[in-house]
Amino acid sequence: MSSAPRSVRGMHDIPPAEMSTWQRFEREARAVLGAYAFEEIRTPIVEKTAVFTRAIGEATDVVEKEMYTFEDRNGDSLSLRPEGTAGVVRAALQNGLLYAAPIRLWYMGPMFRHERPQKGRTRQFHQVGAEVFGAPGPDVDAELLAMGERLWARLGLDDVQLEINSLGNTDERVAYREALVEYMSAHAESLPEDARERLARNPLRILDSKDPDVQARLADAPVLGDFLGDESRAHFDGLRERLDRLGIGYRVNPRLVRGLDYYCHTVFEWVTQSLGAQGTICAGGRYDGLVELQGGKPWPATGFAMGAERIVALMNDLGAGETVAPHAYVVAVGDVAGPEAQRLAEQLRDANGDLRVQMNAGGGSFKAQFKRADRSGAPLALVLGDDEVAAGQVTVKHLREDLPQETVSLADLNQWIDAWLASA
Ligand code: ATP
Ligand code: MG
Repeated sequence: MSSAPRSVRGMHDIPPAEMSTWQRFEREARAVLGAYAFEEIRTPIVEKTAVFTRAIGEATDVVEKEMYTFEDRNGDSLSLRPEGTAGVVRAALQNGLLYAAPIRLWYMGPMFRHERPQKGRTRQFHQVGAEVFGAPGPDVDAELLAMGERLWARLGLDDVQLEINSLGNTDERVAYREALVEYMSAHAESLPEDARERLARNPLRILDSKDPDVQARLADAPVLGDFLGDESRAHFDGLRERLDRLGIGYRVNPRLVRGLDYYCHTVFEWVTQSLGAQGTICAGGRYDGLVELQGGKPWPATGFAMGAERIVALMNDLGAGETVAPHAYVVAVGDVAGPEAQRLAEQLRDANGDLRVQMNAGGGSFKAQFKRADRSGAPLALVLGDDEVAAGQVTVKHLREDLPQETVSLADLNQWIDAWLASA
């Protein structure tokens, strides 16, 4: 038995073969966020625990059960971030960013939650998130949704459905919560333990219980939409009008909620049927109460976070994955050819900053080097022996296509490569 250590349960390596798909996702996300003038922000992975307990709320699964909390050597309570919004709000306040509001920010990075690992649910996972501070209306909510739609389209993800709902304002939600608790309490004895617990601690969360009995019980329960006043209704109608005008399809899901008090008005999720039980690839909404809760002025705010692992899995399922091989593999055998090959590779990179060149390392016979060239996936082998160097030439072999090899003078190689790239 090997004693080599293994990664922590629920925390996975992303091996090189999977990285290209990740990079494609990240590249497209970056491009789409840029197209809407969002600016990137990076915050630490570790924050004081209070940043999260305040923002996420004590009575939530994330804070109660899932957070990686520890004392550092000074005895301060710190936590690995379970999500990005709390840290972004902290950073926006600390850096005075909100004085320029409305501002649009985005982030990308690893998050940590100690949950039961399963398909689509890991203990370290990655999110790309966007937040807008200082804009209260449904116009930016619609913009967030347009941005999501655009990203799915660019990634070729067609099996995603948008669900939206309105949570109204605090008073409306309090009134609704009372009605919901009253209704559900009348049936409390038939509810599973977990649902009763939710009812006591964070009643709205009962609405997104995955238990079929609870869902059946909810069929006749009061609906949040019936508790909205004129202003909240206008906010929601405004969002729907904009989505209709933009041609963005959606379904109103009256059970879609967030369990936290600072969420209000718009909530949304993009869901796919293709990933099994963990089908939510992006979730978001408006959280006008959060910045004040974190010690700032009551700035309106809205945003979303998407789960990168789930999106990458969906891309792979739909054949939208990607592999990136070098363009050229430099094969060199000989005392002169070896060092010359390295110089040549540098020359090629100087001439074209996007060219991917893999130099053979570690010597070996022509046969051994061609084997490596083949394994690299490169379509071209550039072959140098001492004879070629003496003649000022390189032999170009096509490794993926049945084409005759060519002899190209070293002086013309940059041009040859450019022409080959242009025709590829
Ligand atoms: P769920 O109901 O699936 O637990 P959540 O409400 O905890 O989701 P959010 O906090 O809204 O999730 O996170 C936004 C997105 O991040 C999710 O929709 C999902 O795509 C992704 N995500 C959340 N937790 C995990 C995890 N443990 N592993 C992988 N992705 C995750
Ligand atoms: Mg969760």
